[in-house]
Amino acid sequence: MSVEIVRDLRGLHSSIARYRNGPLNTAASLAIVPTMGAIHEAHEKLIIEAKRNANIVLATIFVNPMQFGENEDFNKYPKSEEEDIKRLSDVGCDIIYIPTIENIYPEGFDLTINVPKLSSVLCGKKRPNHFEGVSTIVAKLLLQSGADYAVFGEKDYQQLLIIKSLVKNLDIPCQILPIETIRDTNGLAISSRNKYLNAASKVIANNINKIMKSAINQYKKTDIQTTIKFVESNLLSVGIENIDYIEIRDNNNLSVIDNNDKSNARLFIAVYIENTRLIDNIKL
Ligand code: AMP
Repeated sequence: MSVEIVRDLRGLHSSIARYRNGPLNTAASLAIVPTMGAIHEAHEKLIIEAKRNANIVLATIFVNPMQFGENEDFNKYPKSEEEDIKRLSDVGCDIIYIPTIENIYPEGFDLTINVPKLSSVLCGKKRPNHFEGVSTIVAKLLLQSGADYAVFGEKDYQQLLIIKSLVKNLDIPCQILPIETIRDTNGLAISSRNKYLNAASKVIANNINKIMKSAINQYKKTDIQTTIKFVESNLLSVGIENIDYIEIRDNNNLSVIDNNDKSNARLFIAVYIENTRLIDNIKL
């Protein structure tokens, strides 16, 4: 069967039913891969992971206005629907759901889902309401689709923990499958926003992963404060001056950790290169 494109909830439900009842059967499992489009290699890896775990793979493309702040890039977020459909179907996607805004936020929609503790730190500090937007859209997509599995990337590690918590606390019967951060040959975490980088900025950005990797050793030898200073001075030395945060937090719950327990630490950074905000994280 070739890929089915659906643009509303009724279409989504009948497409899933066709797959579950037709070529497959009601026991067939469904995995969802939510995306904002601008499909790249990392999204393809998520689809492949979905395919490995479930019979039916559903990708969604929705640039969710609720998760963008006023001065963020909602209006210029890259859009490439035709190419996205081709890439997603080439890697084995069965259904692509590209909902209209009315199918997600119908008139009178009045709900936000908040995972307050996990959402208030790191990216949540500078992007108020961002994770409420993420939590709300993800809850909607999981419930609209009834997916058995959902695949998310560790590149957005805070988001991944928030979604795991959301699913657990709302008793949504969907298993979250994480995949590790996919990087280009220079180590830069692949992101739709990398498209905003010009050649010179890209060269600068290529240093981020190298610096983060060298922080692993630094942390082994020293402590949190020294490692953060080390990362900061290295970022500054390669010309990354606009640093949003560099933090080391607990890998499982993002809490602040002390220097006595080195087993569960993860380094998180967010920086601006020109006007492009890049995030990355690494287990220390
Ligand atoms: P986005 O379209 O950027 O909202 O991302 C959709 C999904 O792809 C999310 O689960 C992201 O965490 C994941 N993702 C994006 N880039 C990467 C990457 N470089 N490595 C792993 N997962 C990624």
